[in-house]
Amino acid sequence: MLNIASMSLSGGQGKTTVAVLLAKYLAEQGSNVLLIDSDPQANATTFLGHSVESDEPTLLEAIKGTVDIEDAVYETEISNLSLIPADDALDQVQDWLSSSGAGAVMLRKRLKPLKSHDICIMDSPPQRSQICKTIIGASDYILMPCESSVKGFGSMVRTLCAVDELNDIEVSSAQILGVIPFRDRWVGNNRTNESQLCISAMEEELDGDAPVFPTIRESERYKQAISGKTTLKQLGYPDLEYPFEVISDVIRSIKR
Ligand code: ATP
Ligand code: MG
Repeated sequence: MLNIASMSLSGGQGKTTVAVLLAKYLAEQGSNVLLIDSDPQANATTFLGHSVESDEPTLLEAIKGTVDIEDAVYETEISNLSLIPADDALDQVQDWLSSSGAGAVMLRKRLKPLKSHDICIMDSPPQRSQICKTIIGASDYILMPCESSVKGFGSMVRTLCAVDELNDIEVSSAQILGVIPFRDRWVGNNRTNESQLCISAMEEELDGDAPVFPTIRESERYKQAISGKTTLKQLGYPDLEYPFEVISDVIRSIKR
């Protein structure tokens, strides 16, 4: 299983949008995909139409090891797409991870028994927290959605720092898959100055080490496509799927 985190260490950067739409896209292309919701806000869980019952195992129990990981995996209404859900209680795992002494490597260890998925996409929370460290430790690749704004540039730099820190002490070997500029604003046929400056700054900062993928344009369509079984293609906007097509090609070439 190839583990990819959608991570960006600020709020509202498009992490959940990218995680859910990429997972749906890859599942539609025939990959067997596992989406892990690792944000106590549980937005990905909600978007996939899953409601957590009080006695149901979630990512919390899976990380703590009080259930077998397989028991926290649920089918969704989308074929080829399974989910390890989250709910608000996931916040409790922060203290548990920090006192475990092995927080950064815990999720990777827990995911090892899973053999039936090709790709795991992890939706991350915005904070630089214990959850974020365990996701970096579990990741083969980090995909960074970053708003095409000054805040988004800052989020990219924070995320790169967090990954470097864990790679330096060798609890992670995550590589950067690339940046996907989010809410890229255009007026008519022209990209706004702010978007252009921020995307150029992202390219400069990455300096060829990782790609800046085609952007997610500012558009209500993505919000519509994120819920339930719909996809951008089914909504009649296949061209808006282009960023996911490109990322999926890169993932396919890595898997080969
Ligand atoms: P958080 O840090 O809270 O987890 P996030 O990084 O996961 O946020 P999203 O929830 O994916 O970010 O997106 C932030 C907001 O942008 C959401 O309200 C979402 O509906 C909206 N949004 C998604 N796609 C687009 C788009 N293409 N254009 C404009 N807004 C969008
Ligand atoms: Mg989110």
